[in-house]
Amino acid sequence: MIEDIYSRNCVTVNLSVLTANYRRMKSRVPEATRLLGMVKADAYGHGMIEAAKAFQIAGCDIFGVAELGEAIRLRKHGIEGEILVFLGCRRSELSLLAKYDLQPVVFDRQDIQELERIGKNSRKKIKIHLKVDTGMGRLGITPEEAGEYLDLIKSMHHVELAGVASHFPKGDEKDSKETLQAIKKFEELKRKYTWISDKLHIANSGGILNFPQAHNSLSRAGIALYGYAPDGKVTAETEDLQPAMEVATELIQVKKVKKGQGISYGHTYVAENDMRIGVIPMGYEDGLSRTMSNKGEVLVLGKRAKICGRICMNICMIDLSEIEDAVVGDKVVVLGCQGDQCITGDEIAARCHTISYEILCMFGNNNERKYIE
Ligand SMILES: *Cc1c(COP(=O)(O)O)cnc(C)c1O
Repeated sequence: MIEDIYSRNCVTVNLSVLTANYRRMKSRVPEATRLLGMVKADAYGHGMIEAAKAFQIAGCDIFGVAELGEAIRLRKHGIEGEILVFLGCRRSELSLLAKYDLQPVVFDRQDIQELERIGKNSRKKIKIHLKVDTGMGRLGITPEEAGEYLDLIKSMHHVELAGVASHFPKGDEKDSKETLQAIKKFEELKRKYTWISDKLHIANSGGILNFPQAHNSLSRAGIALYGYAPDGKVTAETEDLQPAMEVATELIQVKKVKKGQGISYGHTYVAENDMRIGVIPMGYEDGLSRTMSNKGEVLVLGKRAKICGRICMNICMIDLSEIEDAVVGDKVVVLGCQGDQCITGDEIAARCHTISYEILCMFGNNNERKYIE
């Protein structure tokens, strides 16, 4: 018999928190606006299938992923409702969109023509979303090209325009002129092509929180559903959102080291006094970024302990000098709360010069996940 061995590093995701966050974000958009649950990147590290189901409980019936494979996995796990594939797919794979009833985001004329052919052959109407770049400088056609694309789509019988999508470069910044500019360009499209006026969608979490005028028939929430503010700052608008992920490990050794002892590769940390060091079985391959070497903190028995020396691939050391009761087996919280202390994704992100999004993906997608409600 093969025994089930669980890693000592564990990501715990609270599904009721995900459900509650969806409800809270839904209450921020107008009644008539649908709220898409972005579940790309394995739901920002929370587990795509489980997160989609948690959002479904709160009424979510439209989901977003980046790639085709993710969308098919959602269908194979019984997720119903609409699924948007934000990066489209290879031309040779377009027929799978019809097979699994998926809606691609399109930005290429030939893809649209191929979809018309596939729709005709399979006697289906394939729903598509046209991607327009209103200033993000990423994927999409220009607003000037929109007219000819819309004409093309209108002339088709087996392809149906379900949406016109765009994306904000600075939705997380209140009053940012780039965002106002994008909204203006979108409004111009709406005025020019009145038949698409009920199909536009542009707002991400930042847009939903900071630009209420950006709501259309659909808004798309990602990071806020996972409990974080897009700009990393908790404000009155975001304080009711709760992080759903906790990352914890346990002490595998506690030992005394003498003053002058170097710790870990390169001896970048040298004990200034005799001290107590704890060893934890977590390193950069588990999502604990090496840039946290000599910088990060973790929680043991409700107190903060500093990371000492370089973070290795699977292991790192922490200073337990002030946490005298800590013993092997004690829980070590890397992301989350213990006692009255909390380490948030935003705190870690600030230390690593990145954003909470990346921290959640790194921990969530590199460790075993456990679900609680
Ligand atoms: C990721 C993504 C979102 C969600 O963004 P958040 O900042 O996480 O809310 C919305 N729309 C598109 C096109 C995206 O790629």
